[in-house]
Amino acid sequence: MKLHINKFWIKKNFVWLLLVLLIGGIQWACLHPFFIEKFYSTQFYGFYAKMLRGLTGWIKFSIGDVLYILVALYFGYSLYRLAKMLVQKNFSYLKKILIRLLKIGSIVYIWFMLGWGLNYHRLGIAYQLGLNVQPYSTDELCVLRDSLALRLNTLRKQITADSILPTPALNDLYKESPQYYNQAAILHPFLFYQNRSIKASLFTPYAKYFGWGGYYNPFTGEAQIRTDMPRLLIPYTILHEMAHQIGYAGEEEANFVGYLVAIESRNAYVAYSCYSELYKYVFNELLLRNTFPDASPALDSLVKHDFSRVNKFFMEEQNDIAPQIMNLYDVYLKANQQKNGINSYNEVLGLLIAYQKKYGKI
Ligand SMILES: [Zn+2]
Repeated sequence: MKLHINKFWIKKNFVWLLLVLLIGGIQWACLHPFFIEKFYSTQFYGFYAKMLRGLTGWIKFSIGDVLYILVALYFGYSLYRLAKMLVQKNFSYLKKILIRLLKIGSIVYIWFMLGWGLNYHRLGIAYQLGLNVQPYSTDELCVLRDSLALRLNTLRKQITADSILPTPALNDLYKESPQYYNQAAILHPFLFYQNRSIKASLFTPYAKYFGWGGYYNPFTGEAQIRTDMPRLLIPYTILHEMAHQIGYAGEEEANFVGYLVAIESRNAYVAYSCYSELYKYVFNELLLRNTFPDASPALDSLVKHDFSRVNKFFMEEQNDIAPQIMNLYDVYLKANQQKNGINSYNEVLGLLIAYQKKYGKI
């Protein structure tokens, strides 16, 4: 059989053909985690993200946030035009706009996947450390909780005997965090970090409606931090977002990488920030399992005091919008290989228990 390929047709539809081929290639790669781990996450992505951070890191404000505002404006304008075309029954123009939106949507999808999204499909940190992550029992969870409580008590005393924690300057935290990564990279070379690009989120005043503490922008390589949270939460949030920057897309992976870095930081405040968050995950998981343990049996009163200050902050800003946004984020995570959606953050516990079993410490 002889195939007759019309050159004119190919030339006319070249962009669409290229888009379909790229999307097909991405779908194929998603089914091959080893390929992604070996050639994408630890090779191409590493260079690409470092270059992005080099381009945006020296600018004081978040370029990515400005980009998001412009995209939202464009999206709003397009919706307005679509509605206008519908009312005027101008279907030929309507078709033109829809085709254009489809093309832009495809390009953004390809850009997102090649620029970061494929990391959702890598083998990841458990593979790199040879951890055997298994479902864990409630007893194992309680052992972990008690180990974390001991670490929290010790670290809290090292920071200060005062009931109020110090508030390190944000800029110092931004500057020091790459050093912590590079300290951890002595043990785990894949954590090596270059070209800092960590910034305050321009959306901080509205963060309570979104429910996040930080986020990574895969189009600009920047890590944005919500800066009005209790300072205790910020060091670990920075380490979490930096883990995304170096290619750990899964939320549980970013949490675990943040932990690996915090324990090597030789900074009691940073480690305390990390253990506080991990303790919260254990506590939430015990609640999810309908196990209602004594709230914090071994926690020092100063630690309890710090926790209640953090809780008070979030209680005071409760609103009706944040849960809706969280539902949308849950859908996004589920569409990106995070089958437990918003509860993926808790999956760090499986990694921690496997780590504790392998290395005998936490
Ligand atoms: Zn994250």
